[in-house]
Amino acid sequence: MTDYRFESAVQLLTLCHECGLPISEVVALREEQLFGRHVQDTRRETCRRYKVMKSMVEEGLRDDIHSRSGLTQAPARKYYESASSGTVLRDPVLRNVLAYAIAANSCNACGGRIVASPTAGSSGILAGVLAAFEERIGKKVVDAILTASAVGIIAHKRAFLSGARGGCQAEIGVSAAMTAAGLAEALGGEPCQCLNAAALALKNALGLTCDPVGGLVEVPCVKRNGFFAVHACVAAELSLAGIGSFIPFDEVLDVMRQTGEMMSQALRETGLAGLAKTATAKEYFKQAEKDG
Ligand code: SF4
Repeated sequence: MTDYRFESAVQLLTLCHECGLPISEVVALREEQLFGRHVQDTRRETCRRYKVMKSMVEEGLRDDIHSRSGLTQAPARKYYESASSGTVLRDPVLRNVLAYAIAANSCNACGGRIVASPTAGSSGILAGVLAAFEERIGKKVVDAILTASAVGIIAHKRAFLSGARGGCQAEIGVSAAMTAAGLAEALGGEPCQCLNAAALALKNALGLTCDPVGGLVEVPCVKRNGFFAVHACVAAELSLAGIGSFIPFDEVLDVMRQTGEMMSQALRETGLAGLAKTATAKEYFKQAEKDG
């Protein structure tokens, strides 16, 4: 009987190759083997989670959405409306990627229901990209989520998935890698192209620090989801065009782990340095305290 467990990209690729299956299928079979969840049930549950992701986008696009701190005030709606008049990103799908990812993460900042992917702070990337590509990929949205989760599993096994442990590279970087891989599969990529997309995405997010203003998952998090949603699309695009990552995904993950371990604790979600300690951040909270 085939053992569908994997802890590295190399093991996952070997499984895909030996079984002649895409990554998404291997993930569904792994669920069945490890947790007794039938493949169809896994797909149904994944579909249910995608509906929650779409509701994150809808919620975040409302023009009256705002967080308790006041740091997040309908940024996606503001962008979406100004983007409609045409500025830099003229491609409507790319514009939606940016708007939807910011919207989905605004939903998190404002206390809405979310699907962590892999974390709450980075939950806008996968949701935003899939919602923007939904028309093009249709039912393959489920395959994309399953493939994205394979990348998350490997990152968890080989490194870490939290800003407190590894800086923002471990949240936003991994989320972009997951999304790039998922999108690549949904657009017809081979397993090796999906993991290559993950490598390209993560490699270009290495060293990203976690220094949110006021310790709240808002600044820079919400807009960073928008930036890295576009980044994930670029990684998938390059990979599908046959552009390889010189460093394979497992090795990029090892570098991310080492970089996180070398990163000062002040830049790992402690609020002791970086953006959290800027004059503007301090002034904002001083004023908020005065205003009660
Ligand atoms: S800056 Fe920190 S809290 Fe914000 S998304 Fe990145 S890791 Fe999460």
